[in-house]
Amino acid sequence: MSRVGVAQLAPAPGETARGMVRIPGVEPAWEVPVFVVRGREPGPTLAVSAGVHAAEYPPIEAATRLARGLDPARLLGTAIVIPLVNTPGFFTRSIYVNPIDGRNLNRAFPGSPEGSASERVAYFLLEQVIVGCDAYVDLHCGDMIEALVPFAAYHLTGREEVDRVSRGLSEAFGIEYVIAGRGVDLPGTGYANAALRGVPALLAEVGQQGVYEQESVERLVQGVRGVMAWLGMLPGVRPSGPGPRREFSRFSWLYADVSGTYHPLVAVGEEVAEGQPVGEIRDLFGERLCELRAPATGPVLFLVTSLAINRGDPLLGVAVAE
Ligand SMILES: [Zn+2]
Repeated sequence: MSRVGVAQLAPAPGETARGMVRIPGVEPAWEVPVFVVRGREPGPTLAVSAGVHAAEYPPIEAATRLARGLDPARLLGTAIVIPLVNTPGFFTRSIYVNPIDGRNLNRAFPGSPEGSASERVAYFLLEQVIVGCDAYVDLHCGDMIEALVPFAAYHLTGREEVDRVSRGLSEAFGIEYVIAGRGVDLPGTGYANAALRGVPALLAEVGQQGVYEQESVERLVQGVRGVMAWLGMLPGVRPSGPGPRREFSRFSWLYADVSGTYHPLVAVGEEVAEGQPVGEIRDLFGERLCELRAPATGPVLFLVTSLAINRGDPLLGVAVAE
């Protein structure tokens, strides 16, 4: 396998190039697999990433399968696919963070060429891959200790054309729960920073809990293919259409204010009312340390499933419509 810079992956029309690309300035070496699938005919350029969180397995396989399944002879435009961004974290089975600087890559955008490893990777992704593309899709799922209902999110920039296309990506992906927000609750995400740089972008979350299973993989592959069809990159393929859709404006997160064992009373997908008991944290003798109450009214889209909880950890996320 060749080791190159991303600019060197320049296939001729109708061909695919791939290689391990080294992130500039990161020690020890951090390399990511990159596919560039260039259609015979010109068209939009789409960037797709997965494995920003390294134990989110269905997205990693979905991006690989997507890239390998694209026929450049039938593609309009170019797909740049990075199926695993957090390669160091993958082999150490790290959740949330990468083992080089201990940071969450999806909080490190827009990054910096002189920052920590995460900031340099974020900068590379944004400046060398995403900016200049017509759209960006970042594939995620619940991490090793997270259950979730499949959902998508995009960042509203206030720029009409960017927001219109980002919304179109969410419809073409064909997912019911959509957060269309300002992203202020989660600064540093890749999709929000892409949109702020003028590249319409979608975060898609399908799968959970470190389980590598095929249904989520296929749903992610079909979602991105729907996006590509909507962008006009896959002639003959029709996007499956928006389907049922529930739109929200943000997450309301519940965090642990004490360490202990976590005993949720609700499941993902369940509708909760603000103030309703949703679980408790106990000490190591099984005594209740605190009762947990829903931070808002709405569906629980995200639920931590680890018994072990540290003070400050997220516990669940409720989608809020206001
Ligand atoms: Zn993730």
